[in-house]
Amino acid sequence: MEHPPERRRFKAGSLVFSPNDPADAAYLVLSGEVELSRDGTSPRDLEVRRPGEMFGEMAIVNDRPRNAAARAVSDCELLAITRAHVSERIEVADPLLRFCLGALLDRIEATQRGGAGPNSIWTAHAAAARDIISFEHELRDGIAGGQLDLYFQPIVRLAAGRLAGFEALVRWQHPKRGLLQPGDFIPMAEKYGVISSVTTFCLRQVARHLPALQAAASSNLAAVERLFLSVNVSGLDLLQPAFAAHAVSILAEGNVKPEDVRLEITESILLTDAERCARTLEQCRDQGFRIAIDDFGTGYSSLHYLNALPISVLKTDRSFSQALLAEPSGRTILGAILRLGRELGLTVIAEGVESEAQADALRSMDCDFGQGYLFGPAREHGATLQLIRDWRATAFDPAARTMLRA
Ligand code: C2E
Ligand code: CA
Ligand code: CA
Repeated sequence: MEHPPERRRFKAGSLVFSPNDPADAAYLVLSGEVELSRDGTSPRDLEVRRPGEMFGEMAIVNDRPRNAAARAVSDCELLAITRAHVSERIEVADPLLRFCLGALLDRIEATQRGGAGPNSIWTAHAAAARDIISFEHELRDGIAGGQLDLYFQPIVRLAAGRLAGFEALVRWQHPKRGLLQPGDFIPMAEKYGVISSVTTFCLRQVARHLPALQAAASSNLAAVERLFLSVNVSGLDLLQPAFAAHAVSILAEGNVKPEDVRLEITESILLTDAERCARTLEQCRDQGFRIAIDDFGTGYSSLHYLNALPISVLKTDRSFSQALLAEPSGRTILGAILRLGRELGLTVIAEGVESEAQADALRSMDCDFGQGYLFGPAREHGATLQLIRDWRATAFDPAARTMLRA
């Protein structure tokens, strides 16, 4: 946010502004008195502004020159409020408030300039707020109407080939736009501050589906471990102090233990409010959740947070798996991350494993877990149950793999 409104002092008798001066600010009188008049001299149309009152407020609406004069009657102190100050605050206001204020100020501005001319900044505020409001409604309707679904992508213990867990990835079957991938709506949900409704939806689905997935796993103990589910959590979730308790209570509805759930966060959360996020993550850890850093190595330049946050899992970004065999330094870089993880006592999951050759290389480097199209894409709950029952800890069927990747 810009610097706060500045205080301006005026001696008794001096002019604050005259007719035709550029209008740079509205004034709130803090002390003293100011008189307003059409030409700065005529006593007939004088109006007086006292402490707590405002004048020159048309400067908030637009930058048309002054059409009156303001003179300090006594020594006075004024707070100068600019259009930028107001605009910045409206930008972060509740969308409904932003829409109403934007539309009202736009209307006043249009009346001032006689209706024609370019759109004002207020038009832009009203339009942006309208987009947020309609997206919020669409998302709320989508969740309530069963249009969102959770897909599950397998995570495999590389050495043994056993199935260890899944990452939960959301999809939106939109009535007008068709099947939406997370990239089509998650960034917007984060930008508009409504991502928590998606996270709550995911946790509810985990509570609903994990028991059945674990039951399927217990019928195939030779190839499947006690399954965990990994859920993507946003920085905005972690800014809510009650997030850990909220997550626990949702999972309890399905008798799911936090110990079986991992929360994936990206390094970018540290750019929001690292201390508050760290506190929430500590509460999550205390409740039994394990915390994973997602897309490790792509975002933040400092490694300090590996000590500062209660992390127990590193997920290496898929670009590292791609570079592993394709670039000379690929193996060196991933090897360094694996050593770092081991020395810090962290579990490492390599994302984006697409070929048997990559899986072999990762196994030879003692990487714990792999996730990627080689082991299968994210799929619906029913298909996931089938996958668990059919999982074999030995080699994968290349034909099936090709099919799954399509
Ligand atoms: P992510 O957490 O890094 O998820 C992994 C993404 O990589 C998934 O894309 C997955 O389909 C894709 N992927 C998996 N294996 C491979 C592979 O072998 N090769 C390649 N090229 N890609 C692979 P998806 O499902 O489109 O998700 C994209 C991103 O959307 C996720 O990235 C995550 O950041 C976000 N996301 C997904 N679901 C949720 C959610 O429920 N909540 C939040 N906050 N974010 C979510
Ligand atoms: Ca993830
Ligand atoms: Ca990732």
